[in-house]
Amino acid sequence: MLFTYDTELTLRAASVLINTNRVDGDQLADLAALDAYLDHFGWTGRRDHDDAELASVHKLRDRLGRIWGAADDEERAVGQVNALLSDTRASPWLTRHPEMPEWHLHLASIHDPLWQRMGAEMAMALADLIRAGELRRLKICAAPDCEASLVDLSRNRSGKFCDTGNCGNRQHVAAYRERRSNK
Ligand SMILES: [Zn+2]
Ligand SMILES: [Zn+2]
Repeated sequence: MLFTYDTELTLRAASVLINTNRVDGDQLADLAALDAYLDHFGWTGRRDHDDAELASVHKLRDRLGRIWGAADDEERAVGQVNALLSDTRASPWLTRHPEMPEWHLHLASIHDPLWQRMGAEMAMALADLIRAGELRRLKICAAPDCEASLVDLSRNRSGKFCDTGNCGNRQHVAAYRERRSNK
């Protein structure tokens, strides 16, 4: 494992959040879809279950997408991550609970709005990545018709394709057809 478990999980959660709007329309268009996403990644704490909450998560999604897009410009990405840490008022505290009995950091109070808690955790995970000099692990899928994000956690940073649309597989098939038709 390259980073701590929570950092990798949170980076994956951020990438999946971005991709809810990059493949096949908006997959996070209503509160039921938001619930499913949050349950999948085990987010707990305050939930308002209203349109304002959903809109605030959409805004966070756009911001994260811009950070991924800035991954080849370290200064710009750092500015965006710092702004997110500041806007979410990230404030670390140690906790443990039945789902996660080891001591770990939470970055916001359970009473803070959802987007703020999500944003704070994600900003901190991104800060970990930047501190380790690994910002380039944030990538956009290399398939020509795909804009999905990925966090490349492979040992040698060789990941190129997202895991939303079976892109890696599709590229292999396309390359194979290409070779055959050139014969
Ligand atoms: Zn926890
Ligand atoms: Zn893709």
